[in-house]
Amino acid sequence: MDIAAPRAYHPPMTHAPDADLLIAGGGNTGAALALAAASAGLSVILIDPEPVARRAAPDFDGRAYALAAASVRMLTALGVWPAVAAEAEAMRAIEILDGRLGDPGPVRLRFEAEDLDSAPFAVLLEDRFLRGALLDAVAAEPRITHLSPARVVDHEAGPAGAVATLDDGRRLSAGVIAACDGKRSLTAARAGVTWARGRYDQIGLVCAVACETPHAGVARQVFYPGGPFAMLPLPGDRVSIVWSERVREARRIAALDDRGYAAEIALRAGGLLGRVALAGRRWAYPLDFSLAYSFVGPRLAVVGDAAHGFHPIAGQGFNLALRDAAALAETLAEARRRGEDIGAPAVLERYQQWRRFDSTAYGAATDGLNRLFSSDFAPLRALRDAGLGAVSRLPALKRAFMASAAGASGAAPRLLRGERP
Ligand SMILES: Cc1cc2nc3c(=O)[nH]c(=O)nc-3n(C[C@H](O)[C@H](O)[C@H](O)COP(=O)(O)OP(=O)(O)OC[C@H]3O[C@@H](n4cnc5c(N)ncnc54)[C@H](O)[C@@H]3O)c2cc1C
Repeated sequence: MDIAAPRAYHPPMTHAPDADLLIAGGGNTGAALALAAASAGLSVILIDPEPVARRAAPDFDGRAYALAAASVRMLTALGVWPAVAAEAEAMRAIEILDGRLGDPGPVRLRFEAEDLDSAPFAVLLEDRFLRGALLDAVAAEPRITHLSPARVVDHEAGPAGAVATLDDGRRLSAGVIAACDGKRSLTAARAGVTWARGRYDQIGLVCAVACETPHAGVARQVFYPGGPFAMLPLPGDRVSIVWSERVREARRIAALDDRGYAAEIALRAGGLLGRVALAGRRWAYPLDFSLAYSFVGPRLAVVGDAAHGFHPIAGQGFNLALRDAAALAETLAEARRRGEDIGAPAVLERYQQWRRFDSTAYGAATDGLNRLFSSDFAPLRALRDAGLGAVSRLPALKRAFMASAAGASGAAPRLLRGERP
């Protein structure tokens, strides 16, 4: 895509822009990007149509995120981590099993956090704590203006800057606009960005359960023919269940009462959790794949789910979004230090170069893993069991997988190393 050719732009900007960076979308990605950019000295306007009080409500989203060690370092550098540390559970080991309904099968592969220098390599944190802490940090940061509820309905880019139009008619100018408005990003689409898209015949079922058997910090993922069934340790005796099922079966299960639903979970846990009881609401997420062909447009950067929405099999979506946010903040800050126009095509291209390959590689890996493991086809079963056995017997390969899960592979932006951008 030719990012050097901006769309028609009027009227010309004759005054200083309202902010360096305008962010369309104040979900977790947009809030993290706002904090990252502000920590680099940039002024930010953050816009979201959902009222803050609703987004901060504990029942807004039922997900728990597996946050890589590098993501925790970034949240620490941004001052967010102290507010949520007590709510996080360290992941001490990961076990991979390949099962059939009613029998999770033997552990095929086990990763120990101690095998990596920086144990633990990931922590589990529920959205209700993360989102609230991000919003509090945004409110406390004087470089961020948070407009909510407000929606970006149009934008234009020109040589001197970009101008966004909000649903109440306000027009706000900035050097760069970041599209953080999720998988169906209208902001990116308006700038001509297109996506490779696909829909899985699966729904993601999510809930927390209280379980009889202590989890001891072990995250388990059992591959069933219908999709992966993950049991992720939460503080206390609770476990977050993230479970992909074929759409028909997921609809049947979703219609069950709480006891029936818990029985389906116990069947898939196959005794690994002991007796289970639901600990909170049940959630369902449609599962699809999207990857933007371009991460940039005229004075525009595409970030988080707006750029890439993958299957949750590897729990990497928000970790990737944090990498995007850190890379964009660092790229813009460096351009500012060098005296460049932060919205210049060459600057945005540096962000795209940094993030597109990593995201594409993750997208291919998660899509391939889901296809390989969500199948009962005998040759595929043999292939994957042989593959798991091979990884298990090769310590160097195992360490490489774990370093990747900890977010320690590739060229990490400074924030992911715990440094200011
Ligand atoms: C079942 C499941 C489990 C997952 N588990 C993990 C995990 O363990 N680890 C992990 O790292 N990731 C995980 N993920 C992925 C993670 O949840 C997402 O990557 C992340 O939530 C994306 O956040 P976002 O802010 O980019 O997008 P969204 O959450 O979609 O936010 C987009 C925001 O944009 C706003 N918006 C929309 N239109 C406009 C507009 N016109 N103007 C302004 N604002 C607008 C919306 O109101 C919204 O607040 C999981 C996903 C699923 C489905």
